[in-house]
Amino acid sequence: MQSRPPSSAIVVGSGIVGAATAYFLAKRGIAIRLIDASAPAAEATGAADGAVSVASKRPGPMMAAALKGVALYGELADNGLLSGAFKRRSTFIVAASDEECAVLEAHSAALAGAGVRVEMLSGTDLRQDFPALSPQAKMAVEVHGEGHAIGYQIVHRLLTASGIVVERDMRVEGFQLEDGGRRIAGITTNRGSLTADVVVIAAGNGSAKLLGFSGILTPRKGQLLVTERAPELNAAMRGAIMSGRYLLSKGSQKAGHTPPRGLGLVIDPLVTGQFLIGGTREDFGKRETNDIDAVSRILTDAVALVPGLAGVRLLRSFAGVRTAVVDGLPLVGRIPGLENGYVATGFEGDGICLGPVTGKSIVQLICGEEPDIDLSSFDPSRFAGQGEAA
Ligand SMILES: Cc1cc2nc3c(=O)[nH]c(=O)nc-3n(C[C@H](O)[C@H](O)[C@H](O)COP(=O)(O)OP(=O)(O)OC[C@H]3O[C@@H](n4cnc5c(N)ncnc54)[C@H](O)[C@@H]3O)c2cc1C
Repeated sequence: MQSRPPSSAIVVGSGIVGAATAYFLAKRGIAIRLIDASAPAAEATGAADGAVSVASKRPGPMMAAALKGVALYGELADNGLLSGAFKRRSTFIVAASDEECAVLEAHSAALAGAGVRVEMLSGTDLRQDFPALSPQAKMAVEVHGEGHAIGYQIVHRLLTASGIVVERDMRVEGFQLEDGGRRIAGITTNRGSLTADVVVIAAGNGSAKLLGFSGILTPRKGQLLVTERAPELNAAMRGAIMSGRYLLSKGSQKAGHTPPRGLGLVIDPLVTGQFLIGGTREDFGKRETNDIDAVSRILTDAVALVPGLAGVRLLRSFAGVRTAVVDGLPLVGRIPGLENGYVATGFEGDGICLGPVTGKSIVQLICGEEPDIDLSSFDPSRFAGQGEAA
């Protein structure tokens, strides 16, 4: 076990998780090499929505971690690092059917139980508070204290503040082991070998091959849309809208199965006056492409809930690929069997929210301190023996 802070570290992957890990390591004076097969925020982090949200989390360890994640964004915004890059706003979870109302009532009780400020809105209150919503909306829960951040902007802030330059186009291909296979002596890359006291794998979907976890980590595609600016409509929305169906879509889809395409609506009014609208959950189709079926279904759902969007032009569509874990929880902690190897991945649709707090927590773990988030449910040892490192 790593007993005292290391003097050097390699972080593999410069998405939000790797960038945050590198930032918190560098803050302690630990020499960092942050390497990426491509470029900073080139994968999921650069193709995400950016809900920094407790509202969307399942009760339990994810909700508890998200509370810490949102709090850290607030702290980093207040201390200047993320000022202007973290937009504070509420999330309104909206139910349009009896099934969604039932899910929403249970979810609202779970959020309140976790200490989140929630407010139920229905009938006239709902119409007054949210005139942009269609009469289809039966009830809503306002979840206070949430926010939004653009993943690649956060990566940029973290790297700039720590002066870390990502070593681009450097793909890690495997580990060199020592001490009877208990320690990583170095890593091999397409551009030679590197050594450091500790290695952290934050390689998103690339982590599966490195850890031999292909049955445990699964790519999950998502398609999103961005509209033109519509300042009046934007100003009429006090926060993001999340359909009750989003909770159903997120909670019901276990990685490794091949369900039909899941669709859970989120409409986010951006600071630019535009709307970011998403999205799908697809366990088939690993490519970052859009298709007309998904685009038209997202738009149809969005206009049904916010009729004013019918007059707003669609500017572009894009897609990204999340990394899902078969049991729905991320992998954060020591790589099973390795004393100085760590992994932080598998955040599915929650890595923008959880990236910074995960980076901070894994660095605390590496340095022998109590992590800010309880990592016990995320411990990769739950899959020990089921993968073989590259
Ligand atoms: C459509 C969509 C919507 C989303 N919406 C939200 C949201 O609203 N809120 C939220 O919190 N999260 C959201 N997410 C999830 C979030 O984007 C991810 O959980 C998060 O970005 C994961 O970050 P990461 O650093 O783990 O991985 P990534 O961003 O995927 O980064 C991994 C990096 O590792 C590099 N890499 C891979 N293999 C290797 C290798 N062998 N050697 C070297 N480098 C390697 C890659 O090039 C990449 O840069 C969304 C995701 C998608 C796709």
